[in-house]
Amino acid sequence: MSALSKLQPLNHPLFVKHNISVAIKRDDKIDNIISGNKWRKLKYNLRHAKSIAAKGVITFGGCFSNHIHATAFACKQQQLPVIGIIRGEESNQTNYTLACAKHWGMQLNFVDRKTYRLRDDKDYLMQLQQQYPDHIIVPEGGSNALALTGVAEVIDELNQQTEFDTLITPVGSGGTLAGLIFGDKAQHSLIGIAVLKQQDYLENQVENLLPNEAKKFNNWSIMNQYHCGGYAKFSSQDVEKIREFSQATGVDFEPVYSGKMILALLDLIESGCFPAQHRIVLLHTGGLQGLAGMFERGILKEDEWPSLPVPTAQ
Ligand SMILES: *Cc1c(COP(=O)(O)O)cnc(C)c1O
Repeated sequence: MSALSKLQPLNHPLFVKHNISVAIKRDDKIDNIISGNKWRKLKYNLRHAKSIAAKGVITFGGCFSNHIHATAFACKQQQLPVIGIIRGEESNQTNYTLACAKHWGMQLNFVDRKTYRLRDDKDYLMQLQQQYPDHIIVPEGGSNALALTGVAEVIDELNQQTEFDTLITPVGSGGTLAGLIFGDKAQHSLIGIAVLKQQDYLENQVENLLPNEAKKFNNWSIMNQYHCGGYAKFSSQDVEKIREFSQATGVDFEPVYSGKMILALLDLIESGCFPAQHRIVLLHTGGLQGLAGMFERGILKEDEWPSLPVPTAQ
């Protein structure tokens, strides 16, 4: 089996200074449009939907969601009808993410924040299921048991590609980290970088996603000091550091997920957290489409960032 995404060595003066090797698993390159870890998480969910001849897929996300963007395109490819339950106002419909989703055929159902909070509520989901019989419901971010099987394949590929000590990934809903824990079977040290401000519930969330046989593994941790103020928050200095790192390495990052992993990596190496000759692998989870919404809102300047693939009907 050949690996889905390549493993690329990264060069940076800091790595040389500390005698540490860093490589990056380019899941951002698996697909031009479908964000890396969302591709992994959707793989077996959509395969399941096809195998039971589901009438369609229902899922959840915010207005700028990588998951909504990815699911819309993946379902189009698989010829599966898809409904996105979107948090927020219809006035956001024209943003890049939702315009793409709509263009690819996703039906957008806008709900207020109060309703959106019910996205994991049993009664609400049952009602939704009755309203849309024969549809499969995929949770926000795509994080469920089938997602873990897809993400676990990252470890199989890495084991064919290299030997390493520590794998680092950004953490949002925790599905990606859970999939890595599940696939790794305590071979390596796994570090998740929380991209949102939280009081320890994220560890529980990851635990809850793990199948029983994987709950015993304790080779993983989540670092909570690199969220830069909260989800999608960052200072201009943070952004500058991420861009500098992109320029030094030739790999594009965005400041919501992968960029925070980079800030964490630099800080952890600088503060001597890894011994000499430590071998680190970063998981590039993708997410570059999210830049478009930040250009639209003037949060970032478009000419300072990589150009995004233009959505096309394919
Ligand atoms: C969704 C997402 C994550 C977080 O993954 P979880 O499985 O929700 O923890 C990380 N990076 C990118 C680019 C994402 O879109």
